[in-house]
Amino acid sequence: MQSHSSYSHTQLLNDIQHLHPNQVRDALHALDLSCVCVRSMEGTIFFWSQGNEQLYGWSCQEVTGRTTHELLKTQFPKRLSEINAELMEHGSWKGELLHCTKSGSEVWVASYWVLQRAPHGSPISVIEINSDITESKRSEERSRYLASIIESSDDAIISKDLDGIITSWNTGAERLFGYSAHEIIGRQVLTLFPPELVDEEFIIMARIHRGERIQNYETVRVAKSGRRVDVSITVSPIVNAFGNVIGASKIVRDISQRKALESAFQESERRQALAVEAGEIGLWSYDVASGRPRFSPRCKMIWGLPPDAPTPDYEENLKAIHPNDVERVDRAFQSSIVQGAPFDIDYRLIGQSGSIRWVQSKGRPWKDAQGIVTQIYGTAIDLTQRKQTEESLRRTNSQLEQFAYATAHDLQEPLRNVALSIELAKQQIDRQISQEAEELLNCAVQNARHVQGMVRELLAYSRALQNAAHSPVTNAEEAFALALENLAIAMKEAAAYITKDQLPMVKMDQNHLLQVFQNLLGNALKYRSAEPPRIHVSATVKQNHCLLSVKDNGIGIEPQFQERVFGMFKRLRNNETAGTGVGLALCKRIIEHYGGEIWVQSDGKTGSTFFFTVPLDERSNRAASYK
Ligand code: ADP
Repeated sequence: MQSHSSYSHTQLLNDIQHLHPNQVRDALHALDLSCVCVRSMEGTIFFWSQGNEQLYGWSCQEVTGRTTHELLKTQFPKRLSEINAELMEHGSWKGELLHCTKSGSEVWVASYWVLQRAPHGSPISVIEINSDITESKRSEERSRYLASIIESSDDAIISKDLDGIITSWNTGAERLFGYSAHEIIGRQVLTLFPPELVDEEFIIMARIHRGERIQNYETVRVAKSGRRVDVSITVSPIVNAFGNVIGASKIVRDISQRKALESAFQESERRQALAVEAGEIGLWSYDVASGRPRFSPRCKMIWGLPPDAPTPDYEENLKAIHPNDVERVDRAFQSSIVQGAPFDIDYRLIGQSGSIRWVQSKGRPWKDAQGIVTQIYGTAIDLTQRKQTEESLRRTNSQLEQFAYATAHDLQEPLRNVALSIELAKQQIDRQISQEAEELLNCAVQNARHVQGMVRELLAYSRALQNAAHSPVTNAEEAFALALENLAIAMKEAAAYITKDQLPMVKMDQNHLLQVFQNLLGNALKYRSAEPPRIHVSATVKQNHCLLSVKDNGIGIEPQFQERVFGMFKRLRNNETAGTGVGLALCKRIIEHYGGEIWVQSDGKTGSTFFFTVPLDERSNRAASYK
């Protein structure tokens, strides 16, 4: 008999078939290391080789007489009855089985069964030869596992040989480049390179030959559609059992989205920097833990420091602030740190030469995950120029106002005298003058009276905002009622019907709101149509202000005149109705003084609606639960 290593199973079985059962046993003893078991059709073990002892851990003595499938907890690829039927039909069966050893570990075997028949044909025994394939099963499993990872990866995983021929291509690669594995395997990897980058492949391959790995190399590749894709590539050498490099594996990640985000971010940073520079905005930050501020070069410029000077610390900064402002600034800062409140403050800096600069600083606190303020970020703008312009404008306006007031005041007396003198003169020369001369004198009196009216209104206009209550709160209902009282006669004459919504508490001087109501209601009566006037005053509460409106059914104002009517002395029908054209200009002045707006809507035919906004007194409205 040949040694077991070169003696094939088939030869063995041929030999065995011609031996007497006793001889079979002897022969099988010689196959020390083979895993052989002879058993009955039902599985009762007669023979158990040493190879089996080693593989399964049970000695021959332990297993003799036991049932092989129970002992080994055999897991079959199909039902045992089917296997036995095959065995009966063909005399042999082969397949893979999973067994359990004495120690409980699992063993995969390639099993070959041969049926022994008695001369009359009935089955006597089954010779079962097993070879351990656990290792190859495991590595097969590992390969399957790795293959499934490669297939499920979002990245493209490609391998190529040393000539750059693509040898494998996963579904990630199909998705990224658009080629199917069938189309691309066998083609040059350079197919994926943009023409100007083909040299990269030679550099990569030179490194791969040296056994080096290239990690996260960012470049561009071309998809089947011609689309250029930003990618990050990791290339590793593939070595054979002798350690020789035989190819390379590549992991290619699509980074186009990240690149697009990066470039959008850079673009927005660039734009922001330009806007900050164009707006001459200084940027600063304050680190709460260290108590250290940081200034941008523009911010240092506003502070009168050279761009490379160190940022002054918090205390030094406070020292540079005007003594009247320093407490306000410090308070804003501290409450931003403690309460997380943003701030927006104007204050004065005193320069080294004693010059004063106005600064507007806005700060926004930044909180960590625990809600604690760790940084304050802010901007600073030099307001000096604007403040100077505002101040000079304010001075000019006040001078103009004083001038208008003085002129209007001083003109009143002489104008009254002119009108009176003409009337007196007319009375004295009454009978001797012609009708034409009398008409001329009448006209002179009328004009003098009109100019007198204008001067009176001008005086009211320039006085309008004087002596206003300091921080007034007015019940708009009361101001409205007073306006109605003043207009009672005109209302009665015109048979007007006036309705209104509930009116809120507003932060305005009562007299100011009264003047606005009186002018708007008075106009609604004056500029009425043939119908009796129907007027409605409505109020809509917004966040911190109220939108009021006065709607009439009068003659209307054509759209092209709707801005003009708010101008000083601007009238649309000069002689038809009495008036000087100051009323709406006065309303505009008052409303704008309180930070509001006034405008009119009309189709020019069916009445007008004047809208205006006024500041709400939120506290008293809440108390009165005004809606
Ligand atoms: P006055 O009434 O003294 O002329 P205003 O400044 O109050 O001056 O009004 C300016 C002009 O706007 C008026 O002359 C009139 O032509 C027009 N106007 C004002 N209110 C109305 C209104 N409710 N309906 C139609 N026209 C109006």
